[in-house]
Amino acid sequence: MPISTGLNSRTIRIGIILPEDKTRRVKLSWPADLAVASSHDFDDHITQIALEIEDGKFRLNLESEQVVVDDFMLASGDNLAGLSAEHGVCVDSVVAGRGFHWEKQIQPILPGRLLFSIVDDAILLINELSVESYVACVATSEMGAAAPDALLAAQTIVARCWALASVERKHADLHFDVCNDDCCQRYQGTTYLTDHSLQAAIATENQVLVYENSVIDARYSKNCGGIVEDYTTVWGEPPVPYLIPLWDGPNHPEGFAQHDLEPLLAYQDAYCSATRFQDVDLPAMLGKVDETGSYYRWEVAVEKRVILNNLKRNFNHDWAELFEILVLKRGASGRISHLRLAGENQFGDQVTFDLRSEYNIRRTFSESFLYSSAFVIENLASLEEDDAAELRGAGWGHGVGMCQMGALGMALDGIPYQDILSHYYPGTTLKNLTDEIS
Ligand SMILES: [Zn+2]
Ligand SMILES: [Zn+2]
Repeated sequence: MPISTGLNSRTIRIGIILPEDKTRRVKLSWPADLAVASSHDFDDHITQIALEIEDGKFRLNLESEQVVVDDFMLASGDNLAGLSAEHGVCVDSVVAGRGFHWEKQIQPILPGRLLFSIVDDAILLINELSVESYVACVATSEMGAAAPDALLAAQTIVARCWALASVERKHADLHFDVCNDDCCQRYQGTTYLTDHSLQAAIATENQVLVYENSVIDARYSKNCGGIVEDYTTVWGEPPVPYLIPLWDGPNHPEGFAQHDLEPLLAYQDAYCSATRFQDVDLPAMLGKVDETGSYYRWEVAVEKRVILNNLKRNFNHDWAELFEILVLKRGASGRISHLRLAGENQFGDQVTFDLRSEYNIRRTFSESFLYSSAFVIENLASLEEDDAAELRGAGWGHGVGMCQMGALGMALDGIPYQDILSHYYPGTTLKNLTDEIS
């Protein structure tokens, strides 16, 4: 029987501009030698169109003509072998890093079909293309194209598995499979594609990791902090047999324990440790969106005012004072999954509030989104007097599955992608999607 996948077809629909972005106007442009098909016929020499919402419809501004339409489609080829850097249609205003500290506007170049519609008086842009071309683009959107072959191959396979398993389905209400951002997988079309990254995609075409006849739900994050986190710490029960805690280093280290972050902060031997990247051009290998360089270990001072504002904004708890922060549960990597805040509400009553997920902890302890929930609070005892909680932390992201920086560290050590994948997803096997399994 064939390997089972969650996604029904080999075409994927990616949300690029979402109604929540409240974008009402975009400019599209493409090179003169690119063959572009459209739902509205226009002259061959035209290479740009402005699209604007007016009175609930699109107004297309073509050179000397204006047309009013309900929806709009533009398409260029998306065959993997025919892709190249900057092949596709450039969209001039797309949000990257929604809700993160580095949110910004980017101008991605997108192959395949671009489907424009109007939802809540704002633009919804869906990009439809083959899964293979999508994962080739994701590999260099998630990582820099200068990364070693083994890392690009591992990232490509992991991105393919995640897309094909299609477990999370965060955007079913808007009828697309994944969004363009870190909420799903970072996708910026062919913008940063290189021959090198394209080769990695072609060389691993159709390769997937399989567990019990199904493509695995291959979670990954930027930096685990030294120990890969357990699935249940981040997403709860039931556990996933191949997303389990493991030391992200060449040896099982002496003198450190899982779940106990304070001593772990001294652990420097991990594949994702900053000490491994001192002589490499990290930005060229890590992708182009992140502008801060804190990954393995970091320090952040978070003002009490920020925590109180977030309690009000996210949970509708209007507190006057925060007295105590109590860590109740940590996962294997030290990520906090249950934390209690104690304080005083606006009526002077003593109150407590529990944060029960790493996601809620990260959005409460930062003005945007904290690197991870693996942190210790340096000045806990004196928090009453201090204005800010000083956090010392580890890792970036949820820490489950492949650690992208650890995979980079392994690739730089000359470890082949097959071994990188079996390190992060124990018990899985590498197969070709076209294989029959018994
Ligand atoms: Zn998403
Ligand atoms: Zn790691």
